[in-house]
Amino acid sequence: MVAISKNIENYYDIIVVGAGISGIGAGYYLQKNCNSKSFCILENREDIGGTWDLFKYPGIRSDSDMFTLGYAFKPWKDQKSIADGPSILNYLKETVKENDLLKKIKFQHKVLHASWDSKVSRWSLEVLNTKENSTIVLTCNFLFTGTGYYDYEHGYTPEFDAVESFNGTIIHPQKWPKDLDYEDKKVVVIGSGATAATIVPVLSKKAKHVTMLQRSPTYYFNAPDEDRFANTLKKILPTKFAYTTIRLRNVFFQQLLYRICRKYPEYVKRKLIDQVRQLLPNYDVKKHFTPKYYPWEQRMCLIPNADLFESIKLKKASIVTDHIDHFTDKGLKLKSDTEIEADIVITATGLNIQQFGGIKLFVDSKPINPADTMTYKSMMFSGVPNFINSFGYINASWTLKADLTCEYACRLINYMDKNGYKHCLPEIPNDVKEKDDWLATEFSSGYIHRAKHLFPKQGSRSPWIDTQNYFKDFFGIKFGRINDDSINFTAH
Ligand SMILES: Cc1cc2nc3c(=O)[nH]c(=O)nc-3n(C[C@H](O)[C@H](O)[C@H](O)COP(=O)(O)OP(=O)(O)OC[C@H]3O[C@@H](n4cnc5c(N)ncnc54)[C@H](O)[C@@H]3O)c2cc1C
Repeated sequence: MVAISKNIENYYDIIVVGAGISGIGAGYYLQKNCNSKSFCILENREDIGGTWDLFKYPGIRSDSDMFTLGYAFKPWKDQKSIADGPSILNYLKETVKENDLLKKIKFQHKVLHASWDSKVSRWSLEVLNTKENSTIVLTCNFLFTGTGYYDYEHGYTPEFDAVESFNGTIIHPQKWPKDLDYEDKKVVVIGSGATAATIVPVLSKKAKHVTMLQRSPTYYFNAPDEDRFANTLKKILPTKFAYTTIRLRNVFFQQLLYRICRKYPEYVKRKLIDQVRQLLPNYDVKKHFTPKYYPWEQRMCLIPNADLFESIKLKKASIVTDHIDHFTDKGLKLKSDTEIEADIVITATGLNIQQFGGIKLFVDSKPINPADTMTYKSMMFSGVPNFINSFGYINASWTLKADLTCEYACRLINYMDKNGYKHCLPEIPNDVKEKDDWLATEFSSGYIHRAKHLFPKQGSRSPWIDTQNYFKDFFGIKFGRINDDSINFTAH
C-alpha cells in the first residue's frame, strides 16, 4: 500500500465546499460522527449562510416551514414557522457558534478545480483566495460539495427588446441595492414564482402601485405563517421532542400532499383555485390564477396570511397576464398592445442553475461532465470517486435531504476507515438501464428545463433512482447497506 505523506498545511481528510445550510450541516455531522478526521469548509463569500445571506430583497422568507427547513439536530424555536431571511441566517449563525464551527471555515476561498488522482487516492483542489487574489492547492481524501444549485454571480433574466430605452431602474432580486427607494413609485415585478409572490405584497405597502406581470399563472396556496398546533406543542413538551414530532408531522403531510397532487391532479387544482376565488371573489381568477400545468409539476408557492391577495384586494397591487413585447422609455409594451408605466422594473425571472458551484471536476485528468454520469443515492455520481454533493428535495424542504446526505457521508467515511479503504467508486451494474433525467420529466419549471442538459441521469433501479421520497431515503440512507452492488471499495 502506498503511504501518503500528509502535509499538515494543505491536507484534510475531508474538504467541504460551501458554508450554507448544507456545508454547515456537513461540518456539524463530521465533527460529531467522524471526530478523528480533519476537515475544513471552504467558502467563497465573506460570510456564512449561502442563499440566506445572498438574497436581500424586502420580505425575503422561506417558502417551507422551518420545522423541516431547520436541521434535525437543532430545534426551530421562533413563533413563526414561515420565517424571514434574517431569522434563518441567525439560526445558521447560532448553529455555527454552538458547534464552534467558525474555526473550520476559510472564507473568501473559491474552489475552481478539483482533480482526483487514483494513484494516491486524493483530490487536489485549486482554490482562489479572493482576498489576496492568490491561488493555493489544498488536498483531501474525500470531497463534499454543499454549493447549492445556482450561479451566485448572475440571476436569470430573459432577453427583452429595447431595454436600453427604459428611463427607470431595472433590478434582479439576486442583486438588490441596499438603498432602493420605492416609496410612491410605480413598480412592475416580472414573474409569478415564489420571489415575485414575496416581493409584491411587501413593496405594495409603500409603493404607489405594484403590478405583477406574469406570462402565465402559478399555483398559490394560502396558509398562516404561524403554526398554532406546533406552538402549543412546544409549550407542553420538551423542546427536542416537540420539534421532532412537528417535523415528522410536517414531512408526512408534505409528502402526502405531493402524492395526492400526483394522483388526483384535477381535484387538487380545483381546490387550490377555489381557495383563491374565495379570497378574491371579484377577480378574474381563471385568467390570472389558473396555471396551464397541474399542481406540483412546478414548485407551489405559499402565500403566508394571504398577503398577496390582501394587497390585490386593497388595490395596492394588481396582476397582468400577458407577454412583454418590448421596453419603452416609460415602461413596458405588451403583446396585447397595452402599456404599463413603471419607475422600477424587478425581474423576478429566476436563477441560473449551476452544478457544484462551477467547480470543474477531473478524475485521473479526464474532465467530468455531470450530464454523462448517473446519480447514486442522488448524492454521488457514477465514475466519480470519494465525492458527495448535497442536493435537496424539489417537493419538500432542502434540509431534509441535506441532513440525510451528511449522515450518509459520515457512515460511508467511517465504513471506509474501519475497513482500511481509501477509495470508493459508484459503478453502474450491467442490469441498470438509463432513465430520462428525473428532474426534467418530473418538473416542468422553466429554470429546470433551461438546465436539463446539465443534470446527471437516473437509473432503472435503486440506488440509482432519485426517490424524492423522504421516508424511503430515511431508511435507505440511515440503515441501508453501505457496500451494495453499485459501489466499489479499494484500499489504495
Ligand atoms: C430566494 C430563495 C428562497 C428559497 N426558499 C426555500 C425554502 O423555503 N425551502 C427550501 O427547501 N428551499 C428554499 N430555497 C432553496 C435554498 O437554496 C435551499 O433551501 C438552501 O438554502 C440551499 O443550501 P445549500 O447550503 O445547499 O446551498 P446555498 O445556500 O446556495 O449555499 C452554497 C454556498 O456555497 C458557496 N459556494 C458555491 N460555489 C463555491 C465555490 N466554487 N467555492 C467556494 N464556495 C462556493 C456559496 O458562496 C454559498 O455560500 C430557496 C432558494 C432561494 C434562492
